[in-house]
Amino acid sequence: MTETVTVRVPAKVNVQLAVGGARPDGFHDLANVFLAVGLYDEVTVTPADELRVTCAGPDAAQVPLDRTNLAARAALELARRYGVEPAVHLHIAKDIPVAGGMAGGSADGAGALLACDTLWGTNAPREELLDICAELGSDVPFSLVGGAALGTGRGEKLRPLEVGGTFHWVFAMAERGLSTPAVFREFDRMHEGADVPEPVASQDLLDALAKGDAGSLARTVSNDLQPAALSLFPALADTLAAGRAAGALTALVSGSGPTTAFLAPDAETARTIGRVLLASGTCRAVRVTESPAPGATVIG
Ligand code: ATP
Repeated sequence: MTETVTVRVPAKVNVQLAVGGARPDGFHDLANVFLAVGLYDEVTVTPADELRVTCAGPDAAQVPLDRTNLAARAALELARRYGVEPAVHLHIAKDIPVAGGMAGGSADGAGALLACDTLWGTNAPREELLDICAELGSDVPFSLVGGAALGTGRGEKLRPLEVGGTFHWVFAMAERGLSTPAVFREFDRMHEGADVPEPVASQDLLDALAKGDAGSLARTVSNDLQPAALSLFPALADTLAAGRAAGALTALVSGSGPTTAFLAPDAETARTIGRVLLASGTCRAVRVTESPAPGATVIG
């Protein structure tokens, strides 16, 4: 029997995040273009006496270790469906910022699901794994599949997208996190009484991705949550300006923020932007990486 399984899962950036008005159930319809980026959490699962979660990494202190942790919830749901005792130790080696708008918790949910499925030999069909992911949260299915995808509905209905090249990114981590529900509430407040158009994916943006053309992608990225994130965290405007001045083709808030994302024309410029951003004092840490990245993968 396998004694331990480790799964690596990428973070994401939304190159388009189009948000519709609040639905009667409080959720928003989205047109969400996800791109997986080379910044990863690793989830290791080992048999144990009972379910236990541990976490290591720079943001580990902010990660809940009880059954609200998305990794624990994923393990519990798979165990429930297959009648398995969820007696495992889940260890998260966390490199994705917490509450950063990069789907870190979602990555851990998808990672734990794949790791437990492998450890227990449950061999759940891909469709069922995706179904469990969608139950856990809107961004979790994408963490499983990676690459690039268009998410509709609450973001959980995925269509894989073609990507014709490598994109170079810099991510700037902020001094504190932003709660995704708080950013949506601010979005609702800012649009109160307004007619919010139906969210649709931009064909020009999908073409730019398919061509692997960074210049065209830079001209077409958009994030409807950015004004709300900036309203709650005005200092992010300084980080965006510093990255633009350092040579970024475009700068945007990643998802609900507060991580900011900078698209570079090449790897060398990305490294320069990273150095300038760190020296600017407008962020806590910087990561230089590429996309697309593969989805949740068993690595050991
Ligand atoms: P998204 O981009 O999907 O909106 P995010 O990256 O902004 O999410 P997360 O890092 O997923 O935010 O964390 C949001 C909250 O979820 C945290 O503040 C934490 O309380 C909770 N949480 C539950 N499980 C985890 C986990 N495994 N890792 C991090 N946070 C978790």
